[in-house]
Amino acid sequence: MGKTVIQNGMIITVDRDDRVLDKGYLVIEGNKITEIGAGDYQGEADCVVDAAGKAVLPGIVDAHSHVAGSLFKALTEDPENGFYGLSLPMEGQLTPETTYHLSLLGAVEQMKAGITCTNDIYHYMDRVTQAFYDIGMRAVVSQNIVDVDIAALRYDDYTRYPKMGQDFVEQNIRLIEDWNGKDDGRITCRFGPHATDTVSLELAKQIVELGEKYGVGFHTHISQSPREAKYVQETYGFSCLGYLKESGLLGEHLMGAHCIYISDDDVKMLAESRTPMLHCAEMLGKRGHVPPVKRMFDEGVRLILGTDWVTQDCWTNMRAAISMDRMAGCTVHDMNAKKALRKSTIEPAEALGLDDKIGSLEAGKQADIILIDLQSPNLTPMFDDPVATLVYNANRHDVCDVMIAGRWTVRDHLLKTAEEKEILANGQKIANEIYQAHLASKNADWNH
Ligand SMILES: [Zn+2]
Repeated sequence: MGKTVIQNGMIITVDRDDRVLDKGYLVIEGNKITEIGAGDYQGEADCVVDAAGKAVLPGIVDAHSHVAGSLFKALTEDPENGFYGLSLPMEGQLTPETTYHLSLLGAVEQMKAGITCTNDIYHYMDRVTQAFYDIGMRAVVSQNIVDVDIAALRYDDYTRYPKMGQDFVEQNIRLIEDWNGKDDGRITCRFGPHATDTVSLELAKQIVELGEKYGVGFHTHISQSPREAKYVQETYGFSCLGYLKESGLLGEHLMGAHCIYISDDDVKMLAESRTPMLHCAEMLGKRGHVPPVKRMFDEGVRLILGTDWVTQDCWTNMRAAISMDRMAGCTVHDMNAKKALRKSTIEPAEALGLDDKIGSLEAGKQADIILIDLQSPNLTPMFDDPVATLVYNANRHDVCDVMIAGRWTVRDHLLKTAEEKEILANGQKIANEIYQAHLASKNADWNH
């Protein structure tokens, strides 16, 4: 591997001091950034990339996703009860092979928006991981573990199936054994207890023990619906946060999405335990769900941003988070452009324990880098706060180049690691087939 220099670009480091170099260079050797500086690079290089007129940023780190959920685009936003009534039952039509192709589609959507690393949890995770690996993306992966029939939740049917739980645990263990640390740490693994209502307390305790044994963290959903909050309260006599505490899941080792229906005491528990709270504002906004964000900021909860699924656009998600949080009473000091970018880069990297590798542009870190074309009307004019210009105005098609672990995966808007046309065609065909099969199935009853 030779030495690549990216020069003449505006370098937005997102380092500790949020340094911005109006005109600077980055030196990349192998999969790492070895030097970063202002002005012109004086040394020799094998490859020089002229980034004049472009901003150079660390790749976006998505705190919470299900890339294969790109399947549900425009199917689930407007129908009433699209989540329990359509998404979850329709997932029953997925196979390992179709999940692989839909994951490729979702991963390309993410990558072309500038997301270089995502924290993903889903079904058939071995195949999802294969898609990340094939497309050249960095990912933290967890197998969805449940011990209920997800399609039956709309009838409030929480019958437990212990054998099912153990099968998923086995799959998660295999995922860790096969993939954890693969390709110099480009793929890492966690355990994925799906949510506080879909995993029995007993199973959650077992998963915590396994996490300790394998030395990996956890990824879950917390209180994402009134149904979940009610079920947990009625079944155990405590809240979803109480369940997490009781099981041992609560803490810095847990990536916990949503936390919508939670009390002031729960917010305190989140803050005190330093549990990262994965805020998926764009998706939640579409469902009309708003977590108690003002209290979270006041208590010092570690709130970071994720796209979740369906639409995986980190830029619209940053704006949705700022808007939602301010509508929910947050101030401009709680949430602003600089914070939205940090909560989409270095802070999720810290939460995932990967901040020594990714999340900012610094010498010694992995070369996960995105270039944004500034020569567009939506990014003009630019004053002295380029981060604000980008966060409030960039759209994903402004991202022109993406490098992950020192390898160009997108160059001048073109996907370099696979045939994009084929991925889109496969995605459309599979989505049609799954939708038709769902409509013909016994689960096609949306009214619950
Ligand atoms: Zn989710």
